[in-house]
Amino acid sequence: MKIDFSKIKKGFTIAAQKTKETSESVLEIAKLKYKLVEINSEIEETFKNIGKLVYNAGDEEDITDEIKKMCEKISSLTEKRDDMQENFNELVNKKQCPKCSMKLDKDFEYCPKCGHNFDE
Ligand SMILES: [Zn+2]
Repeated sequence: MKIDFSKIKKGFTIAAQKTKETSESVLEIAKLKYKLVEINSEIEETFKNIGKLVYNAGDEEDITDEIKKMCEKISSLTEKRDDMQENFNELVNKKQCPKCSMKLDKDFEYCPKCGHNFDE
């Protein structure tokens, strides 16, 4: 029996590529998840700091500017967080065709663009 090594090699390459892509996106999802937790706690922390600032200032001190700064910080953090969340959702719900790089929903079995079979 003659073994077609080029076929075997091709199969290995595809398998290795698949594994690499899967572990890369798993890592990316984990990283994003961690970042989301981090940014959410930073937002919470800033809210808390506003409360502390108001409490410690009492009636006399003018803290309007400081509060304004903290509110701006919360707004920009929230915006960043929403972007990250959107990114995260996309990563979790979508997959990329290894042949043509088209982004698809997770439940596609074939790529509609190039016909790649994801179960191969
Ligand atoms: Zn494709």
